[in-house]
Amino acid sequence: KKVKGDKKAQSAKEEHKQLYPQPLTTFGELKTTYGISRRMAENLADQGYKIPTEVQMGSLPLLLQPSTALGESASELGDANVDLLSIAPTGSGKTLAFLIPVVNGIIQRRRQNEDKGEHHLEAIIVAPTKELASQIVNEAKKLSIGTGVKVVGMRKGMRLTRSQDEVEKESSGESEEDSGDEAEEPCKGSSQPVSKADILVATPGLLLGSISTGSGDQHTPLPTVQTLVLDEADVLLDPLFRDQTLGIWNSCTNPELRVTLWSATMGSNIETLASSTITSRRSKLDLPTTS
Ligand code: ADP
Ligand code: MG
Repeated sequence: KKVKGDKKAQSAKEEHKQLYPQPLTTFGELKTTYGISRRMAENLADQGYKIPTEVQMGSLPLLLQPSTALGESASELGDANVDLLSIAPTGSGKTLAFLIPVVNGIIQRRRQNEDKGEHHLEAIIVAPTKELASQIVNEAKKLSIGTGVKVVGMRKGMRLTRSQDEVEKESSGESEEDSGDEAEEPCKGSSQPVSKADILVATPGLLLGSISTGSGDQHTPLPTVQTLVLDEADVLLDPLFRDQTLGIWNSCTNPELRVTLWSATMGSNIETLASSTITSRRSKLDLPTTS
């Protein structure tokens, strides 16, 4: 009887292994298994990160693709471009867990497209407070040193235009800036395009304001965005921020959009969202007004 039970446990384990990749055990594996750039690996080492935290161990293999052909686990997941809802306590290193795949994705797409380092707004990271947003900007900049990935923290008065081409045209007179530079200072009284950002970090109100078209609920679509990160997702989805957050989400029109949500608590807001949208995420979001 015991043997039978063991066998059952064994096959459940096998099944789990096929569905989910093995947790990361060292940051070194990011380079050997997932092919993250040497520079990014150095940036992690320079900051003294040695052992991934639990949330990093669990989420990074789901959000990164093995550098060899897609592993069986990835194909079993049916969609290498998974969305993720990650719940882990405060102080457990969620920031790095969402930043590594974002920065890596930009570097890899550039490599594949033999891109000459043009910046196309590829990721938006939304956080509920200015303080949190600026911490994320700092961490993202440290991770991006020397990679050519440009991180911008949104300031009052900045605006996003319909396509990144347009932004580049409007800002073509500007001098080339490296990652790690300060975000542009907004002009007083007039709005300024966010120029040449790969990653934009913003609070919901500022971001939504920057893509408002002035006509009702209409917002400028952001088709270049590949990843939308909602940090402190429980707060971003609570009644105070929810409409703004969903407005931003709906503006990210790329059908391949990946959404990752990070929170210390699994509130009912998140649960409702996860069940109603992660299943049918490519349709417009329309949640009931009560939570
Ligand atoms: P959370 O968002 O989950 O509350 P943070 O991302 O703010 O947590 O991380 C908390 C602290 O832990 C930060 O100072 C960060 O630099 C540090 N940290 C993150 N990952 C690691 C790691 N793998 N090893 C050591 N320190 C880490
Ligand atoms: Mg955090």
